[in-house]
Amino acid sequence: MVRFVLWLVLILMPAPLLTGCAVNPVTGQRQFVLFTESQEIELGREADRDIVAQLGIYDDPELAAWLDDMGQRMAAGSERPHLPWTFRILDDPTINAFALPGGYIYMTRGILTHLNSDAEVAGIVGHEIGHVTARHGVVRVSRAQIAQLGLGLGMILAPDLQPFGEVAGAGLQLLFLRNSRDAEREADDLGLRYMTELDYDPRAVARVFEMLGRASGAEDGDRIPGFLSTHPDPGERRGTILERTTGDDPELTGSRDDRDGYLQRLQGMTFGEDPRQGYFRQSVFYHPELAFRLDFPSGWRTANTRSEVQGVSPEQDAVLLLGFVDEASPRAARDQFMRGEGMTEVSRSDAAIDGLDAATADFRISQDGQDFRGRVLFIRHGDATYRVLGYARQAAWGARGEAINRAVVSFRRVTDPAILGVQPRRIELVRTDTEMTFEGFVQRYPSTVPADVVGVVNGLRPGQVIPAGTLLKRVVGEGTPR
Ligand SMILES: [Zn+2]
Repeated sequence: MVRFVLWLVLILMPAPLLTGCAVNPVTGQRQFVLFTESQEIELGREADRDIVAQLGIYDDPELAAWLDDMGQRMAAGSERPHLPWTFRILDDPTINAFALPGGYIYMTRGILTHLNSDAEVAGIVGHEIGHVTARHGVVRVSRAQIAQLGLGLGMILAPDLQPFGEVAGAGLQLLFLRNSRDAEREADDLGLRYMTELDYDPRAVARVFEMLGRASGAEDGDRIPGFLSTHPDPGERRGTILERTTGDDPELTGSRDDRDGYLQRLQGMTFGEDPRQGYFRQSVFYHPELAFRLDFPSGWRTANTRSEVQGVSPEQDAVLLLGFVDEASPRAARDQFMRGEGMTEVSRSDAAIDGLDAATADFRISQDGQDFRGRVLFIRHGDATYRVLGYARQAAWGARGEAINRAVVSFRRVTDPAILGVQPRRIELVRTDTEMTFEGFVQRYPSTVPADVVGVVNGLRPGQVIPAGTLLKRVVGEGTPR
């Protein structure tokens, strides 16, 4: 019997063919490393392509240029200034930041909306640069681990259920993930040094740790696991950082901590999930930007990435995938699909669906000794050809077949202006005109998220008194319809 296990227990293993010995650029000591520098850069470049394709870049060139400028200046003062340093803002609501080998550093828009000064950003950027310069162990991780680490890649399919072989790029499976505590401490030390060399106030880092701690307990706690799992043990690290930055270390001083200048960069920034990239209401998937809907079988677990929407049955024996194909003609796309290895056609239809050019087929497929049964639809809408593919193990087809067959051909155009016009929540800046408490602020300038989230986002505590003239964030807009 085959076991279908999602979020599988995971194998961590070093890449055995790529070991070698090199001098650590930070410590000057010889150490075993997994890659040569050019291999490391190539790995990072490959993984970067996957990250960008799956998560997308947040569309704010000005903010991106500002972050890149800060990162480049910091990296230029590091031990590895010659790397192709790249700093990106991912269009992802989770609170996360991470580094790839070769000098690729990512901040999510989620973490940026939770920070309150340039020095706080510098603290995180410096820490991530530290992971790269110290060449912290690159480990091979499984697809399920990547999903579990909260990178938002939505990979919910068990390997057993992937006869269509869409596996994440190999590069993505080799990341700086699950750094050890020692590696975290080293990255913290390096980060503090890099940021203070640019005169950023290192005490800002303590506020970042406080935010991370609070966010993991607040209403928006579901956005935190990424950072905590890639950067373990914030409690202990925070204590060490506090000690180091409030001590008398003359090397660790800086005066730059620009709150208002940073906040002004966040005006209008998307907050939380962006429904324009597609959203579920119960089991129906709506895509306002592309103006279509698809009814997934009810009760299925679903995930939405930039390149694919996935659904899995509760019994984990059936799958529905929604994505794009390159071919313009649905018929040509279907015919190519049906030429796949082990494929047997059961029936086909060229009937239009909702007035759209469409081609469907029912099929059986045998791969690696496994038998599947399924239905596929190719449909032309706007300037794209969509593929909707549903399948189940042959043995499960009796129970799932009807729901799959119905779901695959449920593709419909959306014309309802209420759906087409849906907008995400956004950050709006306000400046207090009188002194008020946190509770007074929440009442005077209401947000569409709970008060505890507003508190975490602004670094404010219940009962805290806010001076007149303070620039603060509130969250406006209705966001994803429920
Ligand atoms: Zn770290």
